[in-house]
Amino acid sequence: MRRRLAVTVLVAGLGALVAAASARAYVRSHTSKDNSPLAWRGSCAYLIPDSAYTPDVSSDEVSAAIHDSVSTWNSTGCSYFTLKIDPPEAGGDATMERPVGKNFIVFRRDSWCPPDPTEPCYDSSATALTTVFYIDKPGDPHNGQILDSDVELNNVDFAFTVDGTRPPGSGSKTVADIQNTLTHELGHLLGLDHTCYDGWNPCEAGGRCKANNLACQTEDDCIPLDDHGQRIPRCSDVLSTEVTDATMFNYAQALDTSKRSLSQDDVDGICGIYPVAQDPGSCSRVDTSGADGCAASAGRATPGGGLLLLLALVAALFVARRRA
Ligand SMILES: [Zn+2]
Repeated sequence: MRRRLAVTVLVAGLGALVAAASARAYVRSHTSKDNSPLAWRGSCAYLIPDSAYTPDVSSDEVSAAIHDSVSTWNSTGCSYFTLKIDPPEAGGDATMERPVGKNFIVFRRDSWCPPDPTEPCYDSSATALTTVFYIDKPGDPHNGQILDSDVELNNVDFAFTVDGTRPPGSGSKTVADIQNTLTHELGHLLGLDHTCYDGWNPCEAGGRCKANNLACQTEDDCIPLDDHGQRIPRCSDVLSTEVTDATMFNYAQALDTSKRSLSQDDVDGICGIYPVAQDPGSCSRVDTSGADGCAASAGRATPGGGLLLLLALVAALFVARRRA
């Protein structure tokens, strides 16, 4: 199973989000079948920058921004989880429709659509999105385990910068800060969700929430809960600064750099999922050997059938992993 989460640039309108009193709280991502929280099971994950980078800034500048984003999540002092950076590889976008155990960071320059042409294109207002592959198997001890997570940056509709200057040749594209964008996306990669609800989980006919299968009578029943068990606010509500100041807040303004650093809410989130005292002490790459054959089948899936095939793929991976 996979889930895509995007950050959207909000060019105007944040001024309307007046501070309101509310407790600070973070939100975790969950499985689709039984709403179990997602997490990596080892002590680390390896990231691979796509070697094509972006034409907007130098590869050294991108590398530095990736390093700084990673360092931010690695430096909380209360989380055991460590993000590591592997050398860049070419062709990351060709592998993002399946969990191959390579967590790519890719600037999408030619198209802002999934590599699978049968799927609709992404929202052009999204600066970036992260696709998380995880085991979606209620009752299984590995249920909720993240296998693979890929970050795509929208270089079709946005130009990227590291210092606030507009890249030459970027025309009228909205300019986004790489480190700001990546720090937010890495939060998703680690298992965190947005701090306000923007309508991705409607209550469907049959009385089940679309994205997590909870029983529902209205959409309110499908709104995620924070770590205190409280329903998170709708993004259209008057939002507290705890919600809007978080790196995991859904929206960013052009040239925003506020998400480069974590709020206390984000720190509480990463340390709630991966507290130092519970370090499993095992840092290795996820074994997804045997994925290629199944992935070829998933790639040929017709619309509507792709999900089942992908779930079958994840199940197959699970078996393969246990054999390893
Ligand atoms: Zn996001």
